[in-house]
Amino acid sequence: MKPKTPDQTWTFAEMVASKQGWTLNPDRSFTTILMEGLTTNWNRYGYYLCPCRDTEGTREADQEVVCPCKVSWEDVKEHGHCFCALYLRPDFAASGRPPSSIPDRARRGS
Ligand code: SF4
Repeated sequence: MKPKTPDQTWTFAEMVASKQGWTLNPDRSFTTILMEGLTTNWNRYGYYLCPCRDTEGTREADQEVVCPCKVSWEDVKEHGHCFCALYLRPDFAASGRPPSSIPDRARRGS
């Protein structure tokens, strides 16, 4: 599989954000770290495993936490941002409030 570059990951994340009506975290240095994590995970596992979670070993087991993870819609709606705080609800981003630590719905109980 052809390795991805961080630029390709940015393009992917911008596409996701635009499609969902979300905003990428405006903290560029923080977001750059997440993009690097996503890129590393793609190149290591072959899919965009969430950069804030560990793999469970297989694509099937990680299905819920491939970016954008299944719980991100609920998290963005309820908390204003996803678990990693890569994607923000536009009004939350505009408020300038810093993202907080939120419970991991995807790996709850695991
Ligand atoms: S929490 Fe979900 S949406 Fe946010 S970076 Fe991780 S996988 Fe992507």
